[in-house]
Amino acid sequence: MNHVVLGTDIGGTHMRLAVVDEQGAALHHLRRKTLIAEGAKVTSGRLMQGCQELMDWSRDRGCQVQAIGLGVAGRIDASQGKVLFSPHLPEMNGYPLGLELRERFKLPVVLENDANVFGIGEQWAGAGRDVRNWVGLTLGTGVGGCLILEGRLWQGSGLGSAGELGHMVIDPRGPRCACGVRGCLEAHASQSALLQGVHQAIAARALTEGPLLDHYRAGALDAATIYACAQAGDSLALELFQRMGWALGLALASLFSALGICHAIIGGGVSAGWDAFIEPLHASLAEHISMVPVDMVSIQRAQLGDDAALLGAARLAWQNLDEQAAGR
Ligand SMILES: [Zn+2]
Repeated sequence: MNHVVLGTDIGGTHMRLAVVDEQGAALHHLRRKTLIAEGAKVTSGRLMQGCQELMDWSRDRGCQVQAIGLGVAGRIDASQGKVLFSPHLPEMNGYPLGLELRERFKLPVVLENDANVFGIGEQWAGAGRDVRNWVGLTLGTGVGGCLILEGRLWQGSGLGSAGELGHMVIDPRGPRCACGVRGCLEAHASQSALLQGVHQAIAARALTEGPLLDHYRAGALDAATIYACAQAGDSLALELFQRMGWALGLALASLFSALGICHAIIGGGVSAGWDAFIEPLHASLAEHISMVPVDMVSIQRAQLGDDAALLGAARLAWQNLDEQAAGR
């Protein structure tokens, strides 16, 4: 019987699950709505249902699931299998998601921040394979971050969070972030920041016609439609993506100088707007960096798309199994 693990990525809108082999191939996927507004219990129930489906799928093909890896947005208590604080999944705060899964399936379950598992995934099978030191950013509803240093995920001092680059303050007088602080990178470089920019323009009557307003009225305003408007030359949409690039360049310049490294890998759904923010990013980086030669800087796109976080979660599950076996 072949051994496999389940990798899962629980986001604000959707959860993604996959059966993953030891080489990093996702053999079968599931995608479900998270429905977090209905409460953590409902989300947990949907997650368990999805895991059960993947276990049945695996068993029918002669594979046995050995462990489960979970990637969740927010601060995590890995030892307790708990989500401590999640700005985008507040219903999950304090919920023993990992513990529930462990008890239901009687399998080892590892829990980690979603941006950190994005980093592990890209390092295992994506753009970070041959890079020893790099900064990872995921641009989505918020901005997730991770640090891969000396080939390992930086985990800090056991505080439940590390590499929260989206919550570095880049402008103390800037817009309020979902975490409660003013002027975080996330408040400038996420889907939430793009939406807020449009909403502000509408409230200030600076936006009175055009496709952005049409999308807003149709309830279809998101990062993808704002990017489409930028591609069509809409000045406000272009300006919002330029601000995103400025903020990312500023943050990366500080990080590169502080750490003495020069690589970044950027993923997440909003990174689909790459063409609209990469030039302002490079210009801002060149303006704000002094200690690292700018011609050595490399900003790469992530390669694994929506699979990065669930593959990273699966990789953690495999590593956990290896450590358990070595400890016996
Ligand atoms: Zn913040």
